[in-house]
Amino acid sequence: MKNNSINYSYEELLERAFSKLAGRRGSEEVFEMPRASVLIIGGKTIIQNFKDIARVLGRDEELLKRYFMKEFNAPGSINEAGQLELKGKYGSSAVNQLLERFIQKYVKCPTCGSVHTKLYKKGKIFILKCEACGAETTFQAF
Ligand SMILES: [Zn+2]
Repeated sequence: MKNNSINYSYEELLERAFSKLAGRRGSEEVFEMPRASVLIIGGKTIIQNFKDIARVLGRDEELLKRYFMKEFNAPGSINEAGQLELKGKYGSSAVNQLLERFIQKYVKCPTCGSVHTKLYKKGKIFILKCEACGAETTFQAF
């Protein structure tokens, strides 16, 4: 039986294996969008997994808190359990819509869509720096 397969050198094989691996990883990168679990008690809205959301997104809790306070135009604070308490009643869908908007604007790179980004504040602007493609996007800070 004649062997028609191309003879790859070890280095070539290694390179092929790596490029395959990298390609697969790239296309399979799935970011699970965090969902806020919302509880309304009395006149307050509590985002129970606030701490986890901030951690998953790699964003400062203070920043995320200020974002929600600004968007709902409501006073808020982080309690001892690391939950965000906002004054007023806001449903789960309203909270999660705002969270999605936050991710789209302040987490996702608009150039390549990666969520591996860092957000810096410089004076009155935010700089969103993408660790995947290196793109920098600026917005007005809040
Ligand atoms: Zn990018």
